[in-house]
Amino acid sequence: MKIKRREFLKNSFITGSGFMLSPKLSFLEDLKMQTKVKPVVISSANGLQATAKAMEMMLNGADALDACIAGVNIVEDDPNDMSVGYGGLPNEEGVVELDSCVMHGPSCRGAGVASLRNIKNPSKVARVIMERTDHVLMVGDGALRFAKAHGFMEENLLTEAARKEWLKWKENLSKEDDWLPEHKLEDKDIGENLKNYVRTTGTINCNAVDIFGNISGVTTTSGLAYKIPGRVGDSPILGAGLYVDNEVGAAGSTGRGEANLLNCSSVMIVEYMRQGKSPEQACLMACQRIVDHTKEARLLNDDKKPKFNVTFYAVNKRGEYGGAAIWSGAKYALNTGEKESVLKECAFLYRRVK
Ligand code: ASP
Repeated sequence: MKIKRREFLKNSFITGSGFMLSPKLSFLEDLKMQTKVKPVVISSANGLQATAKAMEMMLNGADALDACIAGVNIVEDDPNDMSVGYGGLPNEEGVVELDSCVMHGPSCRGAGVASLRNIKNPSKVARVIMERTDHVLMVGDGALRFAKAHGFMEENLLTEAARKEWLKWKENLSKEDDWLPEHKLEDKDIGENLKNYVRTTGTINCNAVDIFGNISGVTTTSGLAYKIPGRVGDSPILGAGLYVDNEVGAAGSTGRGEANLLNCSSVMIVEYMRQGKSPEQACLMACQRIVDHTKEARLLNDDKKPKFNVTFYAVNKRGEYGGAAIWSGAKYALNTGEKESVLKECAFLYRRVK
């Protein structure tokens, strides 16, 4: 009877090395199947396709970093995701600036790129920085020139939809400035609708354990919408928006980058897991640390809880996974070997009251 390759791989993870080798399989395939590690990939909720792609690649023997990057490239290329790559919301001047970083567990390497303009796949640029320089972080114009030297093509990343969103924001900032939203002749107080305007944020973080038990991760984003040009969030910073230790696990984040930068949350989550905490417990501890360290009144609601949210996603060496956020309602995308990924609820510290 012919067993489907995917099924065969899945069963072999359960039975470990005690299975009959198929005479049709190559030495490499045999070797892959002797691992006892079941692959897993977790991402932010916008990563259903990304995690499915990454899993498909890993089941065919891909390294976790190759798989994660190929997965998030789908989101970077998607004009409809306005938080990442092409179509991402721009800075306050209407220019898209992207941030990303990658970490490769088995080689203990990583790199980030920040404030990158005109290149839609910053995750790929971060990878080239990791592999083809002695640097760990590159920014702005220098990073763009470096990317072009490696054959990346420049293109306009601002879609019409993103430009219109940005213009709506700009024209509704204040009635005291000179930017006017569409209005009728008789309208007064034009341009103060911002209080009804929700400033969009978003990012994709993706972390995986491959069939060899190796761990990697990537985070990529257009960052905080309408940021001050040059603002860099947590996403390109190793330890903040992503951290991987091949002996322990990986963690990454979405949400208010400033909170993560101040708390080095991703490296903390990996360290909490090293101390024996489950991925979910570790993510919750990072949320609590942010809450404990948020003192500025402008960032707190009447109950003295943060007004903002941060969500974490983590996997450990055993293939266990979990996500947590400060506020309820967040989800993560997960794939443990299936064709389709699923969305799961994140744990949380506080329930949002509607
Ligand atoms: N963490 C990202 C940043 O601060 C934004 C986000 O995830 O919403 O740039």
